[in-house]
Amino acid sequence: MSDLHRLSIRELSEGLAQAKFSSRELTEHYLKRIAKIDTQVQSYITVTAEQALAQADAADAAIKAGHATTLTGLPIAHKDIFCTQGIKTTAGSKMLDNFVSPYDATVVAKGKAAGLVTLGKVNMDEFAMGSTSENPHFGSTKNPWNLEHVPGGSSGGSAAVVAADLAPFATGTDTGGSIRQPASFCGLTGLKPTYGRVSRFGMIAYASSMDQGGPMARSAEDCAYLMNVMAGHDAKDSTSVQKEVDDYVSNLNDTSVKDLRIGIPKQYFNVQGLDADVKARVEESLKKLEEMGAILVEINLNMTEAYVPTYYLIAPAEASSNLQRFDGVRYGYRCENPVDLMDLYKRSRSEGFGTEVQRRILIGTYALSAGYYDAYYVKAQKVRRLIQQDFLKAFENVDVIAAPSAPTTAYKIGANLSPTEMYLGDIYTLAVNLAGLPAINAPVGFDKNNLPVGLQLIGNYWSESQLLSVVHQYQQATDWHTKRAAIAEENA
Ligand code: GLN
Repeated sequence: MSDLHRLSIRELSEGLAQAKFSSRELTEHYLKRIAKIDTQVQSYITVTAEQALAQADAADAAIKAGHATTLTGLPIAHKDIFCTQGIKTTAGSKMLDNFVSPYDATVVAKGKAAGLVTLGKVNMDEFAMGSTSENPHFGSTKNPWNLEHVPGGSSGGSAAVVAADLAPFATGTDTGGSIRQPASFCGLTGLKPTYGRVSRFGMIAYASSMDQGGPMARSAEDCAYLMNVMAGHDAKDSTSVQKEVDDYVSNLNDTSVKDLRIGIPKQYFNVQGLDADVKARVEESLKKLEEMGAILVEINLNMTEAYVPTYYLIAPAEASSNLQRFDGVRYGYRCENPVDLMDLYKRSRSEGFGTEVQRRILIGTYALSAGYYDAYYVKAQKVRRLIQQDFLKAFENVDVIAAPSAPTTAYKIGANLSPTEMYLGDIYTLAVNLAGLPAINAPVGFDKNNLPVGLQLIGNYWSESQLLSVVHQYQQATDWHTKRAAIAEENA
């Protein structure tokens, strides 16, 4: 079968169960595509062909023996921020270029327990800090819709592999938009769950109070299947919540778009730098939802201007603390011939971290230093609370909130935006992480250059089922999520 990569997760699951094809055939199919097409897309840091085929054989045996779960035998790609036992985990950094974790992240372990086959580990912005996946150590991953453009970031490799059909779905992480923005840039569906829904154990930390893993795939239905595997309490992550997990797949039709109250924040659509095509496509998608019975309600989110400065104090502050452990002593990169301990620290960190990571460590260290702590870090935490309250107030009157996922479509590779220009591109995604809310990106069309545009829907706490369900209804009525980049149509 030459078109296995065109099947949805449900079709793949059914096909395996009905023995229309084996997991080995499916896995070999993807490995062939990766060998042929990833030379152009450059999304995989590590391809684990041998392990994948062994896992596929085990999956085929389980299916034959009647021990299969829904996803047994399906291939997946993991963002290279999730620790994988015996397979290198780089977090996109030279600092961890040779790091092989002694254990699996909970998300990876759950995937294995469900019978998923790991195809490999995919590229990202270094330590998840960035929006382009132009990685200084592992190169730039390309956007499958136009190889001269970035796939977004930081989960850019995850987005690119799905958009190029080099994996049927992938894990991502989102600290300030890193699932939603690359999903938007690559025409995919991506869900950032409520903080605490998915275990962070074994997910290399960037900003611990905001980091959250989630699924990236073509459709809400595909994401729901992966969410069923990823979600749940984990005793190894004290911030993961003991709360019953929904069956996201069976809930896909539970929320009706009819009479759904969708809040449209006035401030969001007046943002300077919001591209006209993005605005138009998002508005068209809202019109479509209105035709389907939704009620559009204008709302105010008065804290919008504070999102970027607040996030870009808190996230670097946490990063500066989290990244202290990479000191060249215990593990990771170590400089050559250090003259003394201080030299070892300094040079290992200067040589092992790229510019953006160093910038954030410096900003964070400054914001946390004795003289500035109250003026920056404490103040930012207070504003963070106001941002959360702004959302909670809005949710008294609406069910979900609509926004673009990003003000623009995918940038050109090498566009070399200044840090502040780059940070402003995160305006629509950051507040969700500051507040710990769930949000989803859905593809809603293209700009004049045929680059995908994304709609973001933000939900109240624990509303993952509702978000997936609303997007699923929208995707039943539209076909944006079925559009494929030319490179994805290529056969291996
Ligand atoms: N682009 C944002 C940043 O650079 C978000 C990254 C993320 O979500 N990991 O911090």
